Amino acid sequence: MSFCTSTVSTSAMFNTALQGTFEVFHSIQPLRHIYTIFTKSSPQVTVLYCFWLYFAGSFTFDIVHYLLHQCSKSSFKILRSLGYLHQVHHFYFNSRLKFNEKYHWQNTCLELPLELACQICGAWLGWLIAHTVGFTEEEYPIWDLFVFLVVVQSVRVLVVIVENGHDSHHISYEPMVPKDNRWFLVGPQYHALHHVDPNAYIGSTIRLFDWILGTGSSLRSRRITMTGSSGAFGQAMRNQLIAEGAKSIQELKFRTDWTYDDYQSVVPILINTDILILAHGSNSDDSLKANCESMIELIEIFKQNRKAKSANDMLLPEVWYVGSEAELHPLWGSPTMQSYSRSKRAFVPYARHLYSDPSLLYRHIVPSSFNSSMGSAIVSAEWAARVAMWWIKRGARYVPVTYTGLAYINYFKFRFGKD
Ligand SMILES: [Zn+2]
Ligand SMILES: [Zn+2]
Repeated sequence: MSFCTSTVSTSAMFNTALQGTFEVFHSIQPLRHIYTIFTKSSPQVTVLYCFWLYFAGSFTFDIVHYLLHQCSKSSFKILRSLGYLHQVHHFYFNSRLKFNEKYHWQNTCLELPLELACQICGAWLGWLIAHTVGFTEEEYPIWDLFVFLVVVQSVRVLVVIVENGHDSHHISYEPMVPKDNRWFLVGPQYHALHHVDPNAYIGSTIRLFDWILGTGSSLRSRRITMTGSSGAFGQAMRNQLIAEGAKSIQELKFRTDWTYDDYQSVVPILINTDILILAHGSNSDDSLKANCESMIELIEIFKQNRKAKSANDMLLPEVWYVGSEAELHPLWGSPTMQSYSRSKRAFVPYARHLYSDPSLLYRHIVPSSFNSSMGSAIVSAEWAARVAMWWIKRGARYVPVTYTGLAYINYFKFRFGKD
């Protein structure tokens, strides 16, 4: 009985305290005004509208950010001067992910106000769009929320200025930028990649801009080594890589550089490799050795021996494996096809392990059948390489190259399934 009385009195005291706090909150004019703004329409509409304004602001900054990088490469002095407004930010937090105090004030006086101005202009455009499509001030507090966002963004920039330009997006990673497991939002790892390679990873809050422009990966100036480069897909992929500005493309030829029993000659080549592309394959008797065992052997040698060159040593090494839709559907077809499918399936558990390996970035390419010496199909190897590159430029680590749709469905099976 005494316990119940005590519980009731505690609850009553809590309610009284809550009521008191609420009354104090309401007696302060600015807080009461904020409360009115946020309760004028339903919480869902208010939250969605706030996101809309925020993303409109950050997307506008992404566009200006990209254009300023283009300006800084221009042959016209006036455009280069314009690009300098943002270049100072890269001088301040450089490609080694270190702060250079020499540019502290230029970053504070040029970059931070520019970023704030873009955020405000973009959010204002967001308000204008909302207003135009029928969100009226009478029903929704859209202008008041815009003003609230401007205040919040201004306070944020002031805090960054007080913190000497240091914020949660600028972290000095060593010895290289760690793997980023986010897929949509931009975190400090993603932004660090932009400082390492300013041509890519432009997005500041979300990755939408990089998805649209295909600036979500870093291929320029990378040293690439390929197996199967004389095959149909290998040749087509080689052309794609040259177009993307790869620094060098070395070949690893079967029987010349390696055999199933001897991998010694690949070591000096893999030491000087940033991206290892495994595009060889077989549908003959040696399919298990070709499509699974040799792949694992080459990847392990790459992991153990690869040495970064200073220009690229902040970026994770990458492995791209050219798989097949055959690896993910039930075994059917001729005995040869079944053996091919079995060899591809045998690699999948190791591929899943690589997917979460923090020491490298693994991309699993899953093409439908294409025209090659292994058989004819309705699409060309050039189409397959072009689609694979389209995905990779948008940051995809599971790369569906499909006209059947099977690779999309099997994304979940690949990521979460068990053999
Ligand atoms: Zn930055
Ligand atoms: Zn930049």
